[in-house]
Amino acid sequence: DGVDSRMLEDALYAFGFGNQCSYVQPFGAGHINETYAVFMPGENGEEELSYVLQRINIHVFKKPREVMENIFGVTEYLRQSIRAAGGDPDRETLSYIKTKAGENYYEDTDGLPWRCYNYIPDSVCYQSVERPEQFYQSARSFGRFLKQLDGYPADTLYETIPKFHDTEDRLKNFKQALRRDVKNRARTCKDEIQFVLDHAADCSVLMSQLRAGTLPLRVTHNDTKLNNILFDEKSGQGICIIDLDTIMPGLALNDFGDSIRFGATHAAEDEPDLSKVSFDIDLFEAYTKGYLETAGDVLTENEKANLAWGAKIITLECGMRFLTDYLQGDTYFKTQYPTHNLVRARTQFKLVQDMEQQFENMQAIVKKYS
Ligand code: ADP
Ligand code: MG
Ligand code: MG
Repeated sequence: DGVDSRMLEDALYAFGFGNQCSYVQPFGAGHINETYAVFMPGENGEEELSYVLQRINIHVFKKPREVMENIFGVTEYLRQSIRAAGGDPDRETLSYIKTKAGENYYEDTDGLPWRCYNYIPDSVCYQSVERPEQFYQSARSFGRFLKQLDGYPADTLYETIPKFHDTEDRLKNFKQALRRDVKNRARTCKDEIQFVLDHAADCSVLMSQLRAGTLPLRVTHNDTKLNNILFDEKSGQGICIIDLDTIMPGLALNDFGDSIRFGATHAAEDEPDLSKVSFDIDLFEAYTKGYLETAGDVLTENEKANLAWGAKIITLECGMRFLTDYLQGDTYFKTQYPTHNLVRARTQFKLVQDMEQQFENMQAIVKKYS
């Protein structure tokens, strides 16, 4: 799925760098978009990485206009927050560039969307957590991101993936897949089905509080992975959150929870040997500490009281989605073997069980750093 070089060149001209640009090369290790580094002549005669140019994946993001409106709205607000706190908005958030025609993105002659932002110099991006310190730093970054966006009218954001973390809707879809049982697989996963049915009430714990207004709607990132943070090359501290495509209105607890789900364990999401899958409460503590250090004063008491629930429910939801896809015949997640989605569901349910056993410890940790 290589990009035609003429399209790339057209995009460069659309953003106004066509004439000066020295060269462009593929960049980063993202799986969704096509990312390029744009080099321009620097002051000392050397070529400098100056901009990042991306072609948006329209199979995932069907409404790029809405994605880009969300991104421009949020990054402009972030710039003000960062400036007000005495920070450097050019370094602490992405600065998206409009096309020469004044648009948020450029549509090439195939109708595909491109966008462009400033490269942040002296930054590094890590693919996976190697030391607990990095997990703690990522918590500080995502917590700061939440704090900087406090006050943003979240209900004006587009829901670019509808009902993304509507856990009740996810349960409904699971039950429908179970009723249809198109692959006759329900007989092969009775325990897992029972696990979901036994946890049906949990699916409403956060959703009902959102409806009641006791949990606020916030700007959420929805892809809170380590490789979506840029770190300062020298200090090792998080500078800037990137990959803003999945910004949507939602619950802070979902972002927190998803970080815990994939980060507070040492096993892969599809580890078949469940004896290797466990929830690591020390990593939970490292993340919670970092998150509350930066977001603690904007989170409400009730949000804090529900952080542990956030971790458990998002993990349950994720397992439920894998099991739903297994029952549906693997139409959503990519699979390498017939029980791949079932294996994934099992790891998530094992983590849920571990969290349930440690729930009081989790709550105590949240209290300790609140
Ligand atoms: P995707 O949705 O494909 O993950 P990202 O916006 O996360 O798209 O970009 C993909 C990858 O490109 C990132 O994980 C990172 O490795 C790299 N990258 C993007 N922007 C920058 C940047 N400003 N500085 C350094 N690396 C970057
Ligand atoms: Mg990314
Ligand atoms: Mg992404």
